[in-house]
Amino acid sequence: MLKLHNTLTGTLEEFKSISDGKALMYNCGPTVYNYAHIGNLRSYVFADTLRRTLQYLGYEVTQVINITDVGHLSDDGDEGEDKMTKALKRLGKPMTTSAMREVADLYFEEFKKDLRKLHIELPTYFPFASDHLVEDMKLVETLIEKGFAYKTSDGIYFDTEKDPHYGKLGQLTPISDEQSRIGMNSEKKNPRDFALWKFNNELGYESALGRGFPGWHIECSAMAMKYLGETFDIHTGGIDHIPVHHNNEIAQSESATGKPFAHYWMHNGFVNVESGKMAKSEGNFLSLQTLQERNFLPLAYRYWLLQARYSTQVNFTFEALEAAQQAYKKLVKTWQQLPDGGTSSKHHIDTFQSFIEDDLDTAKSLALIWELLKDDSVVAADKKTTIAEFDKVLGLNISKQPIESAGGIKVEDEHLVSELLAKRVEARKHKDFKTSDEMRDALAKLGYKIEDKPEGTIISQI
Ligand code: AMP
Ligand code: ZN
Repeated sequence: MLKLHNTLTGTLEEFKSISDGKALMYNCGPTVYNYAHIGNLRSYVFADTLRRTLQYLGYEVTQVINITDVGHLSDDGDEGEDKMTKALKRLGKPMTTSAMREVADLYFEEFKKDLRKLHIELPTYFPFASDHLVEDMKLVETLIEKGFAYKTSDGIYFDTEKDPHYGKLGQLTPISDEQSRIGMNSEKKNPRDFALWKFNNELGYESALGRGFPGWHIECSAMAMKYLGETFDIHTGGIDHIPVHHNNEIAQSESATGKPFAHYWMHNGFVNVESGKMAKSEGNFLSLQTLQERNFLPLAYRYWLLQARYSTQVNFTFEALEAAQQAYKKLVKTWQQLPDGGTSSKHHIDTFQSFIEDDLDTAKSLALIWELLKDDSVVAADKKTTIAEFDKVLGLNISKQPIESAGGIKVEDEHLVSELLAKRVEARKHKDFKTSDEMRDALAKLGYKIEDKPEGTIISQI
C-alpha cells in the first residue's frame, strides 16, 4: 500500500487515486528566465521518482510540468519585477512579448537537457503559460462572476475574505502586521489578497479584463484543470510554494469550481549551500553544467539526492557529491560486471517495495542495494536482475552509464557520447562487432577514444 505525506492534512496517508489504476499529477514547473539550478532540479528528480514509483506499482500516470514564461514576480506575490522582463534586460533584448517567448524557449531547451542528463522522463504535457491566456481569462471571469474578485487601479485581485478555508495548506498562520506592511498595495482589501490579473499597458496582452498579464498562481490553476480536470490526484512543488503559491492556487480553483482541487499535496525540501538556501536571486546557485565542468556526472547528483528522502532539507557540498559519485561509479561498475540471465530475488523486491511505498524512502532503497550486493545467499545473476528492477524507480540508469570517463567528456557531447556507448554495449552483448566498431568510429570522429580494460570501459579525449 502506497503511503504519501500529504501537506494538506500534515499526515502520512494511503494513496487512493480518483480513477482505479490511473494517477493524475501536476508538478509546478520552472520559471524559464535563467538556467535551472541544482535546487530546482531536485523538484523534478522528486517528481520523476514519484512518477516512476506510481508506474512501478501499476498506475498509468498523466503528468504535467508547466513552463512559467509570464507573470511570476520576483517576490512570488504581487510585488517586484516580472522575472521574464528581468531576463530581457539582462540579455539586452527588446521589451516585447515575442522576445519574452524567445528567452523562454531558450531556457526551456536548456531545462530539457538538464532533465535528460538526470535521466528524468519528459512529462505527458509541458504547457507554456503564455499559450494558456484564454484559459486564465475564463477562470478570472468565473471568479468575478461568483463574487470572489475585485478590481483595483493596477489589477484584479482575489478576495481572500470570501474564502473561509483560505490558507488551509500547511496551516498557514495569519500574516503579522509587520509582514502585511511589506510591499502592501494600499488598494488591496487584505494583505493576503493576490493578483489574478495585473494591468500593464506597455507589455501586456489584450484582454476583456484589461490589457495586462495573468498572475502566476492563476496560470497553474488553469493549466492543471485543462490537462487533468477540476479535481486531480497529486500536486507537487518545492516547500517554498506552500505559503503563497499553492494556497492561492487552492483558494482560486476551489472557489471557482466548488470542488476540491488536488487530493494530495507533496513538497520537496530545499537544497541549501553553506551560505543558506540556494536561489537564483541569492546569486549562489550552481547549475548542472557547473557540476559537469568540475567532472561530476549528472547521475552522481541524482544518486546524492536519493540518499535522502525528498522531503528533507539537504546541505550541498562538493565533498558530499564526490562521495556520492564514488559510490555511484562503484555501483555501476559492480552491476555491469555481474552476469546476465538471473531472476529477481522476491524477498529483496518485497523489501524494496515496502521502502518506496513508505513515502518514497529512497535512502533505505539505496542502502538495500549495497546489502544485496553483499548477500551471499543470492546468486550474482539474480542480484543483477533485482537491482535492475529497483532502478526502474531510482532512475540511476546503471545499465547504460559509461563506466568511466577518465579524460572528461565535453558537456555538449555528453548526451551523444552516452548514446553511442550504450549502443556499443548493447552490440557487444550480442557479439555484433560490426556495430560495435561503428560506434567506436563515431566516437573517434567526435574526438573520443575507448579502451576496454578489465576494470571496465574507459573513455577519454583523443
Ligand atoms: P522556479 O523556477 O523558481 O519557479 O522553481 C522551480 C522549482 O524549484 C519549484 O518547485 C521551487 O519550489 C523549487 N526550488 C527553488 N529553489 C529550491 C531549492 N534551493 N531547493 C529545492 N527546490 C527549490
Ligand atoms: Zn505552480
